[in-house]
Amino acid sequence: MKRLSTIPFLALALFLTAQGQTGLPPAAERAMNAIDAEKIRATVKYLSDDALEGRGTGQKGGDKAADWMAAQFKKYGLAPAGDHGTYFQNVSFYGVTTDQQRTRLAFVSKSGSETVQKFADDYVATDQTHSEKSEIDAPIVFVGYGINAPEYNWDDYKGVDLKGKALLMLVNEPPSDDPNFFKGRALTYYGRWTYKYEEAARRGAVAVILVHKTEMASYPWEVVRNSWGGETSLLEDEKEPKLKSAGWVQLEVAHKLAQSAGLDLEQMLKDANSRSFKPVELGVRLKETIVSQVRSFASRNVLGKVSGSDPRLKGQAVLYTAHYDHLGIHPNEPGDNIYNGAADNATGCGILLELARAYAEAPQKPARTILFAAVTAEEQGLLGSKYLGEHPPVPANNISLDLNYDDVQPFGDPEQVVVSGSERTTVSPLVERVAQAFHLSIQPDDHPEAGHYYRSDHFSMARVGVPAFSVNEGALFKGHDLAWGEEKEKDYVTHRYHQPSDEYRADMDFTADAKMAKFGFVLGWDVANQPELAGWQPGDEFERARKRSQQPKTGF
Ligand SMILES: [Zn+2]
Repeated sequence: MKRLSTIPFLALALFLTAQGQTGLPPAAERAMNAIDAEKIRATVKYLSDDALEGRGTGQKGGDKAADWMAAQFKKYGLAPAGDHGTYFQNVSFYGVTTDQQRTRLAFVSKSGSETVQKFADDYVATDQTHSEKSEIDAPIVFVGYGINAPEYNWDDYKGVDLKGKALLMLVNEPPSDDPNFFKGRALTYYGRWTYKYEEAARRGAVAVILVHKTEMASYPWEVVRNSWGGETSLLEDEKEPKLKSAGWVQLEVAHKLAQSAGLDLEQMLKDANSRSFKPVELGVRLKETIVSQVRSFASRNVLGKVSGSDPRLKGQAVLYTAHYDHLGIHPNEPGDNIYNGAADNATGCGILLELARAYAEAPQKPARTILFAAVTAEEQGLLGSKYLGEHPPVPANNISLDLNYDDVQPFGDPEQVVVSGSERTTVSPLVERVAQAFHLSIQPDDHPEAGHYYRSDHFSMARVGVPAFSVNEGALFKGHDLAWGEEKEKDYVTHRYHQPSDEYRADMDFTADAKMAKFGFVLGWDVANQPELAGWQPGDEFERARKRSQQPKTGF
């Protein structure tokens, strides 16, 4: 097991602190100080221009953005780190749209009577197998939360064979205030619907029916219905098993389904909260014909690197990520239908490019290699970064840390930094020291129950074991009180977030973005020079993935 040993780390920290406030050697400090807010502005202005059509994945504007990012990497002198000596990593996708007219779903009782459900009103479903037509006729089994979490001594499956079955399950995780049990109020990955589909498919199930309960999902049925109404993008290169029908039902439908099996849903919900819960076969079958329109398309991650200076350590890396895609153009919508994505995430791209320029121009390089990845298809469910995590240019066990930037608001000079998830990793003490050097306080996660850690690209790297988190500003800015920053954030979320109005404006102040870039530069530089690779705190949910990635393989 590789873990940062305390003594050399402390010695290094003291040694570095002695050199200056940031701990950087003078050459690196000069490179960091050249990070320029106005250059970030220029990137945001360019990438969010109507000419780039909102950088949609699989759209012309997205391709143009990828070409441009690669051209900047080249201009700054980064070496290519993509496929076949290029700056690009090709990612193939399937776009799947469920044909609502031709798809049919019914519950069949023991006596053989069918209750047909209505798409969108009663249920939604996506076929993950890329088939144009799948037929399902399977017994329905209630599996509680559908979670198997050995570290919390929790297993809803109890070894029951679920091959070929349709699993009815709840979203979220067993409720608790105990921080040692599913992290208390905070949502772990076990509570996310994506985990539930993955786990069911791994067990050979053919379908999942998630019960939608607003309080448990933390969003209403309309959100589920709207996000499942259009095209779903899936990675073409997926080795994991997939479901013929990954679906949700309205709470009321689940009530009736339980009733038809002679059960009471309220009681089932209670039973699911017990550690001794066992799967319950309902005696009702799911009969479903799911018809889909399937198309293939390709997109690209953009990868560049600055090679490390230590021949022994240059095979290892520190990674910086930011997604360049946004929601593209929605041709059928009236008025302005270009989703420019200035804040989300042209800002992250601007920061990534300044980091790339700073490392490339530094006359002295860190020991380990520095990798830069502008990833695609974040808005489609972190798919570009998922592909990157599964096909990293440096093996995942040799990537010490991933620092991600997503939606860094150009609001002025921040006095707080948000690094949620850093406390899970061994770089936590270093994060605190660097924050101090920048006079930044660390803003805690106010809504751990929303599971934000699982909603940006760093998570794709964590899944393959790489210690990872996003760097962003908090709500407190120089010359303002906290309420001002919170109001600005609220105004953004209400009026611009994921809307065509997320556009560049001349009054944007990119001081924040430059400061977050400098903060990440110092952090990444230090981690790239530490004697050991970074790791997870003992018992963290991603520690197992790190250990798995470190098991001896052929190669490196
Ligand atoms: Zn984003």
